Amino acid sequence: MKMNHIRVGILIALCLFLFPGFCFGNDWSNIKTPAPGPAFAIGSVSSGCIAGAVSLPSDGPGYKIMHLERRRFFGHPKLLKTIEAIGFAVERESLGTLHVGDLAQPCGGPTPSNHLSHQNGLDVDIWFALDPDLTAKADADRSDIPAPSFTNGTGTVLNHSLWKSGNTRVLELAARLPEVERIFVNPHIKKELCQFVPKNERNWLRKIRPWWGHNDHFHMRLACPPGSSECRPQNPLPPGDGCGAPLDWWLHIPNLLPKPNIGSPRDIPIARMPESCKKLLAGKQAR
Ligand SMILES: [Zn+2]
Repeated sequence: MKMNHIRVGILIALCLFLFPGFCFGNDWSNIKTPAPGPAFAIGSVSSGCIAGAVSLPSDGPGYKIMHLERRRFFGHPKLLKTIEAIGFAVERESLGTLHVGDLAQPCGGPTPSNHLSHQNGLDVDIWFALDPDLTAKADADRSDIPAPSFTNGTGTVLNHSLWKSGNTRVLELAARLPEVERIFVNPHIKKELCQFVPKNERNWLRKIRPWWGHNDHFHMRLACPPGSSECRPQNPLPPGDGCGAPLDWWLHIPNLLPKPNIGSPRDIPIARMPESCKKLLAGKQAR
């Protein structure tokens, strides 16, 4: 019995040391409701927050939200409209069902898991899996269904038995929306697009960016919306479709999963966040 207590104590200490946000949540993940008022995306995707966020309904035409227990289905109204527009198109074209992963927390901010971005209500993860029966046996929160990987275990070979023309079409539908600024996918998925999308139809490939991970979902990011004067824009995309030399560098990396340690939300002290986010958090904590 005593040994068990010691083991539990060691585990808690380890968890606190390695993943403090994950063990006990953080200030931002403890906020249960959005800040009222008009929508403002504040700061950057990796050090920011959102006021006036709205929540995406758990089900809509052509889409379902996964992992409802995380309550990361909040975002800027423009993000919600964009997801709904893609859902409509997916339904109209009988492509299957979009499985929507994380958006942001009610007021954004860092999450107690491995997201560095998703902080100012402009990011969403959408699974590649389009199978409408995927959630047939899921629990009520859809928390017990893992996102199926579309690559081998190192993220270096695309599984062609899973990747279908519908997956390419969903990326095209998203990338052609003007409010979508960039979309992150596994580099070998970008390679597939570069190989098979006809040369005269691939202007949308510029927005498809290779990145670590992203073998089971793509990450879609909106540009700073008009009116969000404190939203910090990302660097503009480089010119061109991103095929060829810029992609080759990625294709030589022997293991694209997991992504290297590029920081984690617990590394962002509140002191470094935008002043408006500090005020928003203080206001929420004062209630
Ligand atoms: Zn993401």
